[in-house]
Amino acid sequence: MTKYQPVIGLEIHAVLETRSKMFDDAPVVDSTHGAPNIAVSPVSAGMPGVLPVINQRAVEYALRVALALDCEIALTSIFERKSYFYPDLPKGYQISQYQHPLARNGELTIHTSQGEQVVRIRRVHIEEDTGKLTHVEEDGENYSLVDLNRAGVPLLEIVTEPDLHSVEAVRAYAYGLRAVLRYLGVNSGNLEKGLLRIEPNISLRPKGSEEMGTRTEIKNLNSFRTLERALSYEIERQTEVLNSGGDIRQQTLGWNEAEQVTVPQRSKEEAEDYRYFPEPDLPPLVLEQSWVDEIRAGLPELPYTKQQRFVQQYQLKQGRAALLVEDQAVAEFFEAAMGAAQDIEARLVANWITGDLFSHMNDSGEDIEDLKLKPANLGTLVQLVSSGEINQPTAKGVLAEMLGSGRSPAEIIEEHGLGQISDTGQIEAMVSEVLAANPDELAEYHAGKEQLAQWFFGQVMRTAQGQANPQLLRMELERQLSESKQ
Ligand code: ADP
Ligand code: MG
Repeated sequence: MTKYQPVIGLEIHAVLETRSKMFDDAPVVDSTHGAPNIAVSPVSAGMPGVLPVINQRAVEYALRVALALDCEIALTSIFERKSYFYPDLPKGYQISQYQHPLARNGELTIHTSQGEQVVRIRRVHIEEDTGKLTHVEEDGENYSLVDLNRAGVPLLEIVTEPDLHSVEAVRAYAYGLRAVLRYLGVNSGNLEKGLLRIEPNISLRPKGSEEMGTRTEIKNLNSFRTLERALSYEIERQTEVLNSGGDIRQQTLGWNEAEQVTVPQRSKEEAEDYRYFPEPDLPPLVLEQSWVDEIRAGLPELPYTKQQRFVQQYQLKQGRAALLVEDQAVAEFFEAAMGAAQDIEARLVANWITGDLFSHMNDSGEDIEDLKLKPANLGTLVQLVSSGEINQPTAKGVLAEMLGSGRSPAEIIEEHGLGQISDTGQIEAMVSEVLAANPDELAEYHAGKEQLAQWFFGQVMRTAQGQANPQLLRMELERQLSESKQ
């Protein structure tokens, strides 16, 4: 057992996926498509003398998030200049919010193996993204390319209090927040494309201590997997440093994927001086309360609320419910399947979705909305299994066909004659046939080799080509075995 408790706070940058940029009308383009520098206006190129204009839709998106996170909204917030030099920042400063952010004091509830936890959110503010540098080394030449497509794209920064104490909690928070952003339609949640960037700050402290240790910050994590790996590594590394009597240096770290280690990028011992001051080219951002109220009223049922409702209403386990609510369309599919008839077993529907459907979607790259399979037909399929009309292996085959053709389970079962044999007369005949054909095994069974009952079961099932109702078959087999004893 380690004597330290990890203390982790997250800074998350989410691109607000609006049509145009934060302060001008250049389009927001997908980073993986098109050529560099095709979405650059004089404003995002940082030309002198041009003026920024606030994108109202971006503010609306930011408000949706801030309200969903139960923040206090500042009806007046201020854009400020954060000055620093970098080749992907032609203005020499980034417009951000600092002293007077759009929103503060929010929270997001998460669920882990330790139970429910409320993670406090310190602030939510709007800023603009920078451009992108590509460092090239070829034929002895060494240079960097600047692409300003991303410069000026609206970003939302969401900063937590240092309330997270395990990799599991970080994972739950990161997935939970991503689900919120997706439900609100403001961000598609793609870490690989850099649309969502998660930067953990991490320190250790002796268990029971209230003081905070010196922290490191990890940047450029482009998947949930690297987030978890980098954090685990960093907890381990800091533990070893402290155990050997060393001190943690306050640093910004990167993640080396090849070596699976964190590596120092720059030292943070001196606080950066960004010379923040209010952006003179923009007025304060003043919101009308009625607009804020309207946006609040338009929020959908949020993922965590939905998760708790699923647990209550359908008696699902937290983990299963969490999987279903992560994507709103999946949650809708589940409820539509449940609505197909009375008393469909929710646990089974959830199992089919998170098992067979997810793996099918993984293989085919389809979203749940793209499936030919209609949710009501999944509900019906589950019912056919519960009522014993078809067995589980048959159902798997039927589902595969439903996914391929979109036809109803009834049609498929009818066409292939897949209905389960539940006719007692038929089962009785098959059992006696098998017992009569295997007199030696029957004698051994009666002499005490009881495990042969299972073997007989298998023989009859084979005769029935797997379609005998297993409960009826077992009962009938038991009856005939004990009757054949004398
Ligand atoms: P900065 O602006 O320098 O990045 P902040 O004080 O705003 O720093 O904190 C950034 C993030 O780091 C927040 O999520 C906060 O909760 C977290 N944090 C601050 N101090 C610590 C610490 N000692 N250990 C772990 N996380 C911390
Ligand atoms: Mg920071």
